[in-house]
Amino acid sequence: MHDVIIVGAGPAGNLAARTLAEKKYEVIVLEEHESPGLPMHCTGFISEETLRMSRVKPDIYSTIYGAEVTFPNGQSIEVRSDKPKGVMIDRVDLEVKMAEAAQKAGADYCFNERYQGHTVGDAVVVDTTVRPHRGKVLIGADGANSQIAMSLGDNRPNEYIRGIQVDVDYAMEDQEMLKLYLGNTVAPGFFAWAIPCGDFTRIGLCSSWSAGPPSEYLSDILVRMGFHDKVLKVYSGKIPLGIRPYLSGDRVLLTGDAAGFVKPLSGGGLYPTFKANAHLMTSITNGLDSDALYSRDLSEYSRNCMDDFGRELERSYQLRKRYKKLTDSDFNRIYDYIQKNDLIEYAKDIDIDHPADVVKKVLKVPSLLFSAIPLFMRSVR
Ligand SMILES: Cc1cc2nc3c(=O)[nH]c(=O)nc-3n(C[C@H](O)[C@H](O)[C@H](O)COP(=O)(O)OP(=O)(O)OC[C@H]3O[C@@H](n4cnc5c(N)ncnc54)[C@H](O)[C@@H]3O)c2cc1C
Repeated sequence: MHDVIIVGAGPAGNLAARTLAEKKYEVIVLEEHESPGLPMHCTGFISEETLRMSRVKPDIYSTIYGAEVTFPNGQSIEVRSDKPKGVMIDRVDLEVKMAEAAQKAGADYCFNERYQGHTVGDAVVVDTTVRPHRGKVLIGADGANSQIAMSLGDNRPNEYIRGIQVDVDYAMEDQEMLKLYLGNTVAPGFFAWAIPCGDFTRIGLCSSWSAGPPSEYLSDILVRMGFHDKVLKVYSGKIPLGIRPYLSGDRVLLTGDAAGFVKPLSGGGLYPTFKANAHLMTSITNGLDSDALYSRDLSEYSRNCMDDFGRELERSYQLRKRYKKLTDSDFNRIYDYIQKNDLIEYAKDIDIDHPADVVKKVLKVPSLLFSAIPLFMRSVR
């Protein structure tokens, strides 16, 4: 019998597998694809802190110091810092290296094996397309469409957004700046991006589910940029926003996208997922050591995640709710507000792992708070 069965060889499952194997637990990872990292859906833009937390060194395409943000009125603001804001990594390489490190530490990996369900008694028995596995505890790291999350009850995130992106055969002149595009005609309910990756550029967008497939919006962007015939690869995926109501059950814990550990303002999941790993380890090692792995024993996991980063994600989700209501005219008013109040200096301090902090900082200045009231009122209608 395994100590821990993990479903999913994405970043969440790989980090958990490595940490548990290093602690000498018997770990098995079940992955439905033939290798980790494929098919890729993620952009691969993460902070240097998140990169460090991955505990591996994937190939890096570029180091980003700022962004040029374009509003629906066609006007742009440029925010350039003298410190790196993040890195564009080879996302497949990240997952391959994380899985290799876990295997080196002693975790077993079964590829081409799909989880199909589980039963819980004095052990957890996982049913797959290949054979059943028996373990003491199951980690659901099975991504945005997690079946394991839904086995815990009505356990949906607040919403899903859809993402699509392409690599185009074009090298951006400035390899240190990414571009963001705001507005409902470009990316309804979210934003679009173009990020330098050395000799190619990754261009994509996310949009609210209600806006329909994002591919048409991306086609428009590519045509406008003159890149429609330069596409090398296409990726797509969905992102859960909002932590799921139940993060654990009898002999089951969730992590990563399966838990809804994603920053609601940017769609970035790696930072909160890696943060959660420490709490996952505490709950699992306590549970295994004292043979206390039922729902009531594992409930501290949810509390610890909420205390550490969950409440910040919830506050960010409240901001997202307002963001979704902005019209293109509202975005243009925000542009005017930024210009009028000279806010670019504030934006330079943005931390991509805590993007809402910059809003808090701005609103602490009484004159800025006062002039933001009309914008705020528009977002509550
Ligand atoms: C368009 C897009 C852009 C993004 N950009 C960024 C970004 O720039 N930065 C960032 O931090 N985050 C980004 N994200 C989010 C990020 O990709 C996720 O948060 C992250 O991949 C979550 O990791 P995970 O291990 O939980 O899930 P996943 O990476 O989805 O891994 C889950 C694994 O489980 C496997 N699996 C699923 N079901 C089963 C089953 N039944 N049986 C066996 N195996 C199964 C899957 O094959 C997969 O390998 C982006 C997402 C999208 C869609």
